[in-house]
Amino acid sequence: MYYIRKVAVLGSGLMGAGIAAHLANCGLEVILLDIAPKELNEDEKKKGLTLNHKEVKNRLVLNARERMKDKKSMLLYTGENIDLIKFGNLEDDLELLREVDWVIEAVVENEKIKKELYEKIQMYLKEDAFISTNTSGISVNSLSEALNKELKDRFFVTHFFNPPRHMKLLEIIPSNHTKPEILEYMTLFCENKLGKGVVIAKDTPGFIANRIGIYSLGLIIHKIYQHNLTFEEADALTGTEIGRPKTGTFRLLDMIGNDTALFVAEYLKENIKELKEKEILNFPSYIKEMVNKGYLGDKTKLGFYKKEGKDILVLEPETFNYRPKKKVEFIELEEAKKAKTLKEKLQTLVYGEGKPGNFLWDVIKNTLLFTAGLVPEISDSIKDIDNAMKWGFNWEVGPFELWDLIGVRKSTEKMKMEGETIPPIVNELLNSGKEQFYSDKKLDLNSKNISANSLKEQGKVIINNDHASLIDMGDNVACFVLHSPNSSVTGEVVEFTHKAISEVEKNYKGMIISSIGKNFCVGANLPFILNSAREKKWDTIDELVSDFQNMNMAIKYSSKPIVAAPYGMALGAGAEITMHCSQARSFAELYIGLVEVGVGLLPGGGGTKELLIKSQENINDNKNIDLTPLVLKNFETITTGKVSKSEPDAKKIGYLRSMDKIIMNKDRQLFTAKNDVLHLFENPKNNNRNKKIRVGGEGLYALLKYSTYQMYKGGFITEYEHYLANKIGYVLCGGNIPNNSMVDEQYLLDLEREAFVSLCGEQKTQERIEHMLKTGRPLRN
Ligand code: NAD
Repeated sequence: MYYIRKVAVLGSGLMGAGIAAHLANCGLEVILLDIAPKELNEDEKKKGLTLNHKEVKNRLVLNARERMKDKKSMLLYTGENIDLIKFGNLEDDLELLREVDWVIEAVVENEKIKKELYEKIQMYLKEDAFISTNTSGISVNSLSEALNKELKDRFFVTHFFNPPRHMKLLEIIPSNHTKPEILEYMTLFCENKLGKGVVIAKDTPGFIANRIGIYSLGLIIHKIYQHNLTFEEADALTGTEIGRPKTGTFRLLDMIGNDTALFVAEYLKENIKELKEKEILNFPSYIKEMVNKGYLGDKTKLGFYKKEGKDILVLEPETFNYRPKKKVEFIELEEAKKAKTLKEKLQTLVYGEGKPGNFLWDVIKNTLLFTAGLVPEISDSIKDIDNAMKWGFNWEVGPFELWDLIGVRKSTEKMKMEGETIPPIVNELLNSGKEQFYSDKKLDLNSKNISANSLKEQGKVIINNDHASLIDMGDNVACFVLHSPNSSVTGEVVEFTHKAISEVEKNYKGMIISSIGKNFCVGANLPFILNSAREKKWDTIDELVSDFQNMNMAIKYSSKPIVAAPYGMALGAGAEITMHCSQARSFAELYIGLVEVGVGLLPGGGGTKELLIKSQENINDNKNIDLTPLVLKNFETITTGKVSKSEPDAKKIGYLRSMDKIIMNKDRQLFTAKNDVLHLFENPKNNNRNKKIRVGGEGLYALLKYSTYQMYKGGFITEYEHYLANKIGYVLCGGNIPNNSMVDEQYLLDLEREAFVSLCGEQKTQERIEHMLKTGRPLRN
């Protein structure tokens, strides 16, 4: 029986600190160690410290601690996670290693230093402890030479991507000695506990993702010259239209840092024998010059692009001057943008006859041939290769999936006509009469990895309309899948939800609410609200809000359990739906928030009410409780439109309850939510619709008004924000009623609705909505 509860991370640099923070996010105890400095810095000298002082010896890890505590670094789910980490140094604290179940080495990329460290620590490790290295490419077999015989069996590479919290990919590379059962255990552990997408790679330079990703970047860098394209043209062509990140290539290089990309390319070039590959990895001299001159991209604010005020300028590599960015105009690109599926987009672009088509064919052809030529050298599994590119480089589809989309036979014929040598796995596929690398996937409801998308595409539809579907998930559980434009709550969604609930109440044990978009749900149908407001259709807005409130109440008081499965953004209406479900099974990366104030509104679908209820769930019957701190907290949450930074943060803010559950691996979310539904069906919760809610009344409202007045007078909020805050405060306090009154839910819903409709009539609210629709950002007016 293997188990991991405590982990040591050695090295507290960029990766070590990121890995340690993520392990703590996952609830593991962590020990973070780094070297003790050999010299005092100026600060330490001024303080009169010596090299033996703890503050000096732990300087590096304490710096890492500060970086973790800095909210902007986004390393931790919540500040409290840091309490799970012990900080120490590699001289005084090696004894701590005796307790750990896993050591992750993340020190500088230097074989000698890594080996010396293994020799130094191995005597401290438990006899069943695992040890792994985060090396980007040093041979795992060479590194394992430094370990004793027993540890060799339990040693492997765990190659995390930066930032470890957010990048899904984890490449695991066993050595020739690693025991298969350990590899199996670690794969499951890293998938389930750390939420990673694990691929198993072989002991070759750059493993899978960097080997293909950097080659592909190199190809584009070289090919733009052959095809006479500018950086902005290449970016427009190599972004979302071909299933790559929307930045395209050169903007992406600016983001990751030109020095980082060049460093990996140079490393690969040195370690790879193949001459053709070396040529592509040899980046043009102007890129090397960019790195030497400090044109590193975003971190030095100079790269392929540069921002000057509102203008974006583009580098002219011949002179190192910048010129204004030009609008990219290609007919083929416009056509591709209109296409609905990636397959149609690719077919339009890759087989196009003009300049964009020729360029993309050249890039994609060479990427595919290169990748197929690496099987089985880097991996035996085309699925692992595809996943590595999707999870490590954010490609929408992997190379083999892409090949299927452009047609394997058709493209291979074209390649042959151009005199290319076709790699054996492609010939084998075509000679066997198959047309695709992947056979059409059948939905397996027993699999732990079920996506809402696959449910919608292939599942058994119970009922549906254009914006949502109810799918049979087996075992008498249904899944509501939202697929409205921009994942917003439209009239169609509201109407459908009622139908879905009555179907589930009749024929199912319960329901999950999920979505197929990048985000769970980003709010209400704002264009509709704005148009109705401009046309002064107050009854229409009133009815809209009332319908949405009724929908959320139907969710809350359904006779069958309804489990929300939110992920990514769950804003406004998305948050309100989640808050009304029997329980939430949220993905760890959850950015939930009642953000209505940004568009001059307040949560009107029951969000204000639910926040109030959740904050006093366990104290409702206690008359003596002082509501002030609870209501003040909710008031701040709504008036600042607070958005959680993670699932645990959402619990801290109060959007979720402590009984709500987290899932680290998004792929497992629906499978787990289904089990939650079944559990709740067997163990129903008492859901008393008549339970009253305590509100602060006039007294508390007066206090809130006083504090917002101070904020306004102090210049912290605008006159309109002051007005908005008072409206929100009014609803949160239950309006003009005696202090400490008990009210029912409908009373609060009516207050919410009245305030919402009245705000829609305000010019400044309409301006806020319009600004949001135009720019995607809130307006402070
Ligand atoms: P870094 O330079 O930020 O950190 C290196 C750490 O090694 C520092 O904490 C340093 O104090 C420590 N160190 C230096 N000399 C040491 C010694 N003699 N003994 C023990 N520790 C020593 O580097 P990083 O980017 O965090 O990289 C760490 C490892 O992760 C490397 O193997 C690197 O190849 C790999 N990696 C990096 C990235 C990335 O994007 N940076 C991604 C994946 C893997």
